[in-house]
Amino acid sequence: MRVLAMLLFVAIASPLTASPKSPPLVLAHVTIIDATGAAPRPDMAVVIDGNRIVSITPSAKLRVPRGARVIDAAGKFLIPGLWDMHVHLFSHTPPRSNADRWFPLFIANGVTGVRDMFTNFDDFERLRQLRAGVEDGTIAGPRVAAAGLMVDGVPVEWPGAIPIANAGDARKVVREAKQRGLDFIKVYDSLSRDSYFAIAAAAKKERIAFAGHVPGAITAAEASKAGQKSIEHLTRVLMGCSSREAELDGIVQNARTALRDPATREAAGKQLATILPAILDSFSESRANALFATFREQHTWHVPTLVHLRSKYDPDNARITVDMPNLQYVAANEREAWKSDRNVVRRPRAQELYARMAGVAGMMSKAHVGILAGTDVGNPYLVPGFSLHDELAIFVEQGMTPLQALQTATRNPARFLGLSDSLGTVEAGKLADLVLLDADPLADIHNTQRIAAVIANGRYFSKETLQKMLDGVAAAVR
Ligand SMILES: [Zn+2]
Repeated sequence: MRVLAMLLFVAIASPLTASPKSPPLVLAHVTIIDATGAAPRPDMAVVIDGNRIVSITPSAKLRVPRGARVIDAAGKFLIPGLWDMHVHLFSHTPPRSNADRWFPLFIANGVTGVRDMFTNFDDFERLRQLRAGVEDGTIAGPRVAAAGLMVDGVPVEWPGAIPIANAGDARKVVREAKQRGLDFIKVYDSLSRDSYFAIAAAAKKERIAFAGHVPGAITAAEASKAGQKSIEHLTRVLMGCSSREAELDGIVQNARTALRDPATREAAGKQLATILPAILDSFSESRANALFATFREQHTWHVPTLVHLRSKYDPDNARITVDMPNLQYVAANEREAWKSDRNVVRRPRAQELYARMAGVAGMMSKAHVGILAGTDVGNPYLVPGFSLHDELAIFVEQGMTPLQALQTATRNPARFLGLSDSLGTVEAGKLADLVLLDADPLADIHNTQRIAAVIANGRYFSKETLQKMLDGVAAAVR
């Protein structure tokens, strides 16, 4: 299976491989939205040589480098390449790597960087090959800037995650992850308090980040104060916004223990069912603001993945997307599997839960908590690349300005990853990861979908080339 997937990948990727000595590229008469927060600059010229932006000047002052390819970008808008900060490039079923099908979709959507949220030790070697291929131009795909080793309590929820039984295990795994070159530890739901805090301490000592879900045994504020670098899917955040947090959380912790005993299981299940309505009814703005202040002070980033939460908790709303044309890029058996997926939650007030979480993401942005755009692609009703644009649109619906939404996928990811020197904004000296748009994304965030061209690590992908890449994927999954 893997060999077949690789052949397919090469077939899609090889016609696009640029020669190492491409001529300089000039985008003339373009309006730059650089994502620093500065106002758009009309009629500019951007010169790209190799994989770098070498100069940005008003078009009138442009001196065209010898042999340069000049693109007239009048009427077009240039933004930094986009990041999807929560993807799953590897699945635990064959073909394990999704990269061959997904990379063309990411690039065609202007997604030039991703963070992988579940990298096994086994998958890490493959990830390193992908990363190297993207950097040296032999693979057309996004930068895979971060790989996270997933750890969980015992038993683990997902095959391939590493079970952590105690503090000793935690220290050992963190050390090994660091030695083997992984970028962060992904913490997951069922870690015990002892294990979690041992991971936090070991990660600090080994200078490796930890990020992920907030486990059920930890409060959102505790995770923030322990140094968790990012919180995914707003895990445990609504509980932290409840005026009855301590009381409700106590009930949850006791009920979880009671679930393990057949004699008390039924009663515990009934008790747990009362928790969601109680959390929704006890939402407190002042509690929320206190929690957001902690996030801000601790520099805890959030990757709300609202596009994923919408399909999980508001499936009827998400099902609108089932008829969308971009489903031609998803294999029929995969789409079929979505319908019966265990991730779709149907229970009373689930829709309200989604609406509340989406609202919280908007509130956090207003409170200057750092927000990152991520989709959790690999889960139902999400299509690589396309879904990231949906996430940005939801952010704007929740009160972000279009510029703020853009920054969640450009400047903020670069800051989060410590790559601001080379990525995240359109500035001279930075790597040339750029998206050229046919319409102004600040006038309407949906215009991020009107892609005229993509430049990834200095390589120019015209609209025609991008369409061919999309067609290639559609044909391959048919
Ligand atoms: Zn995920």
